[in-house]
Amino acid sequence: MPEALVRVVNLKKWFPLRKGFFSSLFGRELYVRAVDGITFEIRKGEIFGLAGESGSGKTTTGRLILRLIEPTEGEIYFEGTNITKLSSRELKPYRRRMQIIFQDPYESLNPRMTIYDIIAEPLRVHGIGENEEERLEIICKILESVQLIPPEEFLYRYPHELSGGQRQRVAIARALVLRPKFIVADEPISMLDMSIRAEMLNLMLNLKEQYGLTYLYITHDLATARYVCDRIAIMYLGKIVELGDIDDIMESPLHPYTRALLAAVPVPDPEIKIGEIPIKGEIPSPINIPPGCRFHPRCPFAKPICQKEEPEFKEIEPGHFIACHLYDSD
Ligand code: SF4
Repeated sequence: MPEALVRVVNLKKWFPLRKGFFSSLFGRELYVRAVDGITFEIRKGEIFGLAGESGSGKTTTGRLILRLIEPTEGEIYFEGTNITKLSSRELKPYRRRMQIIFQDPYESLNPRMTIYDIIAEPLRVHGIGENEEERLEIICKILESVQLIPPEEFLYRYPHELSGGQRQRVAIARALVLRPKFIVADEPISMLDMSIRAEMLNLMLNLKEQYGLTYLYITHDLATARYVCDRIAIMYLGKIVELGDIDDIMESPLHPYTRALLAAVPVPDPEIKIGEIPIKGEIPSPINIPPGCRFHPRCPFAKPICQKEEPEFKEIEPGHFIACHLYDSD
């Protein structure tokens, strides 16, 4: 089995809520428990999916791993080194090896910079390339890799002169130019036109092979996750409820929440029957998380224990983890 590139242990991010009406109502400081104690690893060379509804904590998890925000508790390891407490200076070489592609290519590129400057900026920050001539050569090569060809045609254009797909290619080029090992792709195709989504996923798959990348693929769309991921973790209200190989999870999901999510996804293979699992109501607020199993108010299989005891996240088959009292052994 390939070794872990990234490992997180009991990772938490609680955002304090500004003092106001709600905290005075409850008589204590309130927190948004965006990520609430998760443990998993991402193996070298894999595409690891993190899926769930909006508000499940998946985007916060991606930012925590890259140390773009600080965790409240827990540890983050990259290539075996604990990077949780490293200072910004100590973190610099790791920043180069870990990059992110954001969801919105319209927001993530500075509209006042040319494509050349957007991609040259990280090279300058990390002191790569002896001079502008050398940097130009690196930038042209990376533009070719993301299929913005011929590169000379794009170098001195501004983001608003490009289509959404072309802008996302520039964002990928900017992430790749530092030759990272690990990329967090945060819903990288959800803002793009339907017609170019498959093309963009194929580009990401090709780049993975070409540059030996490992991805954390964050998505709410299980159909695309199935297409690209090797393994997947399903998040609900800040916790991972199920984790395993993508085929196992897609073909025989065990957790009631995963089953409900999958019931809403069109299945191309008529042999696979997931069955309807109706879930009740809306996702509760992460400020006021239900006791016991946090999914119990919506779960059609809830038992009395589910309201009192939080289920343990445990391995029930090799590589298949689940947090649900339905799979307690006694
Ligand atoms: Fe449903 Fe109980 Fe399992 Fe939670 S622990 S998912 S409430 S059966």
